[in-house]
Amino acid sequence: MTDRTHKSAIEVRDVSKVFGSGDSPFRALDHVSVDIRENEFFTLLGPSGCGKTTLLRMIAGFTYPTDGEIRLHGEDIAALPPYRRPVNTVFQSYALFPHMTVGENIAFGLEMLDRPKAEIAKRVEEMLALVKMGHLKDRKTAQISGGQQQRVALARALAPQPKVLLLDEPLSALDYKLRKDMQIELKRLQTETGITFIFVTHDQEEALTMSDRIAVMSAGKILQVGGPRDIYDRPAERFVAEFIGETNFLTAEVVSVAGDKADIVLPGGTRVTARLPEGFAPAGKVTVVTRPEHAAITANPEGAHLRGTLASVVYVGTDTHFHIALESGESFCVRRQNSLEQGTPLAEGDVVGVVLETGAAQVLKD
Ligand code: ATP
Repeated sequence: MTDRTHKSAIEVRDVSKVFGSGDSPFRALDHVSVDIRENEFFTLLGPSGCGKTTLLRMIAGFTYPTDGEIRLHGEDIAALPPYRRPVNTVFQSYALFPHMTVGENIAFGLEMLDRPKAEIAKRVEEMLALVKMGHLKDRKTAQISGGQQQRVALARALAPQPKVLLLDEPLSALDYKLRKDMQIELKRLQTETGITFIFVTHDQEEALTMSDRIAVMSAGKILQVGGPRDIYDRPAERFVAEFIGETNFLTAEVVSVAGDKADIVLPGGTRVTARLPEGFAPAGKVTVVTRPEHAAITANPEGAHLRGTLASVVYVGTDTHFHIALESGESFCVRRQNSLEQGTPLAEGDVVGVVLETGAAQVLKD
């Protein structure tokens, strides 16, 4: 589908943010442009300090761009203060009022908006049902668990029916099991309410689990935007490939390019077809990335795509990792899923072959 079939909720146009001035200004965002669509679960993913929170705070209206424009449903919102934007934020710290009950916390934003009492009461009940907290309505928020506080924070933010909900690492204070449950819960809430969610995280698995689309950020720039599979299977740059999962990098030589595919020669001389990043037509030496689970290992190197010596075999429960020292001097990891029947007859020191799945090789821009 092209962008024209989707309506934009938020358009970020060539936005930069410079903190400080004089000798040491710091560019936290560097000419960032992105369209976030209506009704999507959109994630800003990147390491600490890459500018995710700064971008989120600009959409909320807590920070202003040094340059560029942010439009909400087609309107420039630069002049609107935070409370006049149809946008609400859930913070990592929840920021609930501990002396108030669950119900009072959820009602708070609606009371600030001077909504009629009957409407507030009805809306609070709806929100309690949505986050499955009806039985704790009269409990003080200081007396409920972290996971329950998170649900109340979500209900409070959703109660005024914002067009866009901003979520700044809202699950990072929860333990692993609860975080996993809340990921599914958040996705459900987004689907049921149809509200555009913009979610900030540095956790790649969290981003892949929940998002319709992900923007991968590094050092104040957006490097790639796409669905979880695009980002994982088709990274365009080395940083994206490495940040999103386990990777194998190989140096290859481009023979010819046709559309979004290239014929390349792998180390060792085998020719394969590799995918190209959009609009990229390289020549000469390139770096190619392959995920470890998109390759198989064989005891018979004849006819395999790569050839080398098995350096180590590591059993990790769900998978076995085979580390191979290729004849080219590069290393390659193959990851295979374990089953009850399967063991491996391969041993360290064996000469082995690697067979790549069709389409497993992706050329990188850098
Ligand atoms: P984290 O995951 O750690 O929250 P982030 O990706 O959200 O990181 P930001 O909080 O957006 O990063 O910060 C981006 C950069 O801008 C950081 O290097 C930060 O130190 C800097 N920065 C943020 N706010 C200010 C400020 N008010 N003054 C100066 N520098 C700032």
